[in-house]
Amino acid sequence: MAETKTQAYVFPTNNNSRKRTEREDMDGDDYASAAKKSMFLPTAASAAWEDPAAALASARHEFGEHGGVNMSIEASATFTVMEPETLRKMFSGELGADRDFFIYSRHFNPTVLNLSRQMAALEGTEAAYCTSSGMSAISSVLLQLVSSGDHVVASRTLYGGTHALLTHFFPRACNITTTFVDIHDLDMVRNAIEVGKTKVLYFEGMSNPTLTVANIPELSRIGHEKGVTVVVDNTFSPMVLSPARLGADVVVHSISKFISGGADIIAGVVCGPASLVNSMMDLHQGSLMLLGPTMNAKVAFELAERIPHLGIRMKEHCNRAMVYATRMKKMGLKVIYPGLEDHPQHELLKSMINKDYGYGGLLCVDMGTEERANRLMNLLQNYTQFGFMAVSLGYYETLMSCSGSSTSSELSNEEKELAGISPGLVRMSIGYIGTLEQRWSQFEKALNRMQDSGLFGSKK
Ligand SMILES: *Cc1c(COP(=O)(O)O)cnc(C)c1O
Repeated sequence: MAETKTQAYVFPTNNNSRKRTEREDMDGDDYASAAKKSMFLPTAASAAWEDPAAALASARHEFGEHGGVNMSIEASATFTVMEPETLRKMFSGELGADRDFFIYSRHFNPTVLNLSRQMAALEGTEAAYCTSSGMSAISSVLLQLVSSGDHVVASRTLYGGTHALLTHFFPRACNITTTFVDIHDLDMVRNAIEVGKTKVLYFEGMSNPTLTVANIPELSRIGHEKGVTVVVDNTFSPMVLSPARLGADVVVHSISKFISGGADIIAGVVCGPASLVNSMMDLHQGSLMLLGPTMNAKVAFELAERIPHLGIRMKEHCNRAMVYATRMKKMGLKVIYPGLEDHPQHELLKSMINKDYGYGGLLCVDMGTEERANRLMNLLQNYTQFGFMAVSLGYYETLMSCSGSSTSSELSNEEKELAGISPGLVRMSIGYIGTLEQRWSQFEKALNRMQDSGLFGSKK
């Protein structure tokens, strides 16, 4: 960091003399052979990992080009070198992003790499790389791990887009098939995996929208026994769950949700072993390199500024979700929240979560019918201003959607029933602005209005 502070560049920087990472200085020959093929060398971050916030604070901090406390945005598509030989070395893989040598921003970009390092620290993985959306992170990592003729075993409760990708797109476009299983039935999972043919076991740590919780250690053990890569979507529970620390190989996120927190950016990330990230960036075979769902450096910068307060935000999302779920249940509503003791995986979740973050920022209220769900959401938005009717999650305002007719509408009625998605299920991503009591009184007022109009049974 120190060597970057006083340099004032007038002309294109000399890639051969400017800031070097500590790693290069200590590299010597140790990494020489690895560097031949790798653009992204393993970090030491995973060794002493104990908590996501602690890991983030220990991760390398990038200063700005002029000594700014924040890193500079490297808003360049391409990078210059001082000697032609350097270009050859970069293309052969001898010099890479790990040593601050960059070729072109669809490959590696320093600002995107900085955010990616934060994400690797957050999840406790060797490496990570960010993408232009959650779906591109998911599709790219699956296409890297699974080839034509191969097979995936996936949870039947998945984000609608992922479900459609596996059900419709992959079989048609790539001859990749998927068997959907109930991940709580471990024998069913075991039996669905065909050794040699199945390449990936895929599930969500906390699943959309019914908030069921996966037994990450046990599912990872089964996957590894059968030689498959275990990929977990942790979009619903950043900080709360750390799937890679519980045994999973790869963690994917839609950064568009809690991690961004602003509902203004679409982004994603793949966190996993350095060998995987390197393979996804391979010039000849890499899914990220060749399909090109690249994150823009300006977007990466904005997101990197939000990561330091992700932990604080998650704690308040979770705190309010817990308080509201408890109170809603007391009122006699049918609430699904994994922090409540009556949730089928409450104890399991308790055994897996990182300390002091809570049980997640989403809760569901089952209103029985779509009509009642819609009436409640309408009152909550237009009469009491408790939240907004919108899909997505992780925003500072409360967002509400009726899952069956929105985010899970890709599923057939039968699939919805199997996934436990009732037509009156209202998913709420609990926001944190305003005071807790102010927002709760808005909820109560809407519910009372609903009871007055006879659309909701009697209290209790
Ligand atoms: C939103 C979401 C995705 C897709 O992410 P995008 O950033 O919208 O592409 C994937 N998985 C889950 C669980 C999500 O909620």
